[in-house]
Amino acid sequence: MRRKLVAGNWKMNGSAGSIRELLQGILAGASEVSAVELAVFPPFVYLDRVAQQLEGSSIVWGAQNLSEHASGAYTGEVAGPMLNDFGCAYVLVGHSERRTLYGESDQIVARKFAAARKVGLKPVLCVGETLEEREQGITEAVVGRQLQAVLDLEGISSFADAVIAYEPVWAIGTGRTATSAQAQEVHAFIRAQLAAQDPVLASQVRILYGGSVKGSNAGELLAMADIDGGLVGGASLDAKEFLAIAKAGC
Ligand code: PEP
Repeated sequence: MRRKLVAGNWKMNGSAGSIRELLQGILAGASEVSAVELAVFPPFVYLDRVAQQLEGSSIVWGAQNLSEHASGAYTGEVAGPMLNDFGCAYVLVGHSERRTLYGESDQIVARKFAAARKVGLKPVLCVGETLEEREQGITEAVVGRQLQAVLDLEGISSFADAVIAYEPVWAIGTGRTATSAQAQEVHAFIRAQLAAQDPVLASQVRILYGGSVKGSNAGELLAMADIDGGLVGGASLDAKEFLAIAKAGC
């Protein structure tokens, strides 16, 4: 049985004050959604505050990115071992904004996935097609290629502690959500690609859906057989909305 995970990607939003308030709101309602695992992904600079505020609670936290290197002359980068110092459980790798705005190739993403695992962080591997790719009918080819890059580098066993997030790029921050049937189709495809190498492991890997998830559409999405939770951007900045999404997964 896969426990659902609802993860909030705060992106480059928030301030010390707004984050304190947001976490207070989430903490106040967390016990009502305890069937679901809750995770938040603040900007790096707030990890320390988030760790202090969430310490001892049921909510876990992670980072939005990490360097593929463990240390060294990489100005402006943050390494996996540093994230361990702040108690991160997870780290996002290959978010579409990293792939498109910062030129992260499938190979770089795979190396980041490896760097996370090496220090015991659970990677949340984000995959997804653009609108153009969907319209060309190559969604499965694109998602399959993104997944295969990690399988080639790290092997199927590396997914034992990992999470996958299917995030169609055309649905991220656009208010346009994939239908539950569209999402389920890709989730099933991802699971089948893993199952071709290890059916037992594939049945245990959590695959989240991301792309304009809100309280109002989460129920339908999270009810699908292969959708094991949500990676939530905009709506995760509102405690009530974030908790409503989690409630939909209970
Ligand atoms: C995201 O940033 O991963 C995301 C899915 O954003 P949004 O929920 O705002 O579409």
